[in-house]
Amino acid sequence: MNMLIKNGRVMDPAQKIDNVLDVLVGDGKIKEIKPKIEDSSSTVIDALGKIVIPGLIDVHTHLREPGHEEEETIATGTRAAAHGGVTSVLCMPNTHPPLDNAPAVEFVLLKAQKEGLVNVFPIGCITKGSAGAELAEIGVLKKAGVVALSDDGNPVTDSLIMRRALEYTKMFGLAVISHCEDKSLSKNGAMNEGYAAMLLGLRGIRRQSEEIMVSRDIMLAELTGGHLHVAHVSTAGSVELIRQAKAKGINVTAETCPHYFALTEESVKGYNTNTKMKPPLRSAKDVEAIKEGLTDGTIDCIATDHAPHTEEEKNKEYDLAPFGIIGLETLLGLVVTELIEKKVLTWPEAVAKMTANPAGIFGLTGRGTLQPGSIADITIVDPDKKYSYTEKDFLSKSKNSPFIGRSLRGKADTTIVGGKIVWSAKEGIKQY
Ligand SMILES: [Zn+2]
Ligand SMILES: [Zn+2]
Repeated sequence: MNMLIKNGRVMDPAQKIDNVLDVLVGDGKIKEIKPKIEDSSSTVIDALGKIVIPGLIDVHTHLREPGHEEEETIATGTRAAAHGGVTSVLCMPNTHPPLDNAPAVEFVLLKAQKEGLVNVFPIGCITKGSAGAELAEIGVLKKAGVVALSDDGNPVTDSLIMRRALEYTKMFGLAVISHCEDKSLSKNGAMNEGYAAMLLGLRGIRRQSEEIMVSRDIMLAELTGGHLHVAHVSTAGSVELIRQAKAKGINVTAETCPHYFALTEESVKGYNTNTKMKPPLRSAKDVEAIKEGLTDGTIDCIATDHAPHTEEEKNKEYDLAPFGIIGLETLLGLVVTELIEKKVLTWPEAVAKMTANPAGIFGLTGRGTLQPGSIADITIVDPDKKYSYTEKDFLSKSKNSPFIGRSLRGKADTTIVGGKIVWSAKEGIKQY
């Protein structure tokens, strides 16, 4: 049966569309977009007062399965995504076992097909076991279905291996996603190094720990011509390095995460371990630079770095708690509240960073747009919805969010994957 989404403000940055239009969906694809479509055979969704956008693509999700199903599974992680308006996730390979071989990648794809509510695109390891010593079999991983490579959670410390990774991935048209951290500088640190850390008596993580690696990786991208994608950019210095690299024509793209524009190191006061992540929350000056990087296009994507941890794991002294926070369900609200409402980005600019740009960077053909013929992954947004989360509102298995209780604006009203509603404000999760 066809689906007809009527009267919504349709926004598709890939086609430069921002207009009140109707969208006709059939056979899992976008069939037509134009004013006033009539189709008596369709189920009609009235989107009056809502914004109809391509389904959001999160390029940085930790689904934790296989290996840490107590934190998250493919089933629960993709439910959280659907609730957040995210129709595709790129999942990081630092599972147990890690996604450094074809059977592991195939396991995730099969499980996602059976139990996943949204599209799952696995990222493969750069090195075997993410151990940094030996390149994984990149051709085999590509054939198994990975859309990028990353040792996320760890940097690739050995520069020669990073060089080889950028060289080989070039042949396969894959990006290398770099978790930029010089561990000799960040060792034992729990938060951003500076006055706040001193007052709190916590050991610091110097900004140079990130920037040295961003700088090295840009140089290696220049040397090899390989595609470097910098994960979770958090400092003013990193933004500036990427800006200069792009101006020189180096093949580099970048993402930041909502917590790097919505929070500063000041939030660590009170020692809430849900303010502990890597890289750490930085200063107000860094937040301003991140926003500038988003505005001028230096930062291409907004990703979540959704990193679930159980209450037991997080309920420790600040120094001992693991790094990471969940983010799939707060992504849209934080982008609307902190970037669109505060005029850092326009609606179409913000939407592009979560749809067209990720699809383009990672070669997800037929996604990230509402162009007729493309896959009907659609998010209908209620831009005026005001809300705040309590722990029990999250569909993620873990609740480690620093945004519990925070006033947000803008929420997914309906999430559609391949032409099927998987979540709606009215009916909640829909399983097929
Ligand atoms: Zn990382
Ligand atoms: Zn990560």
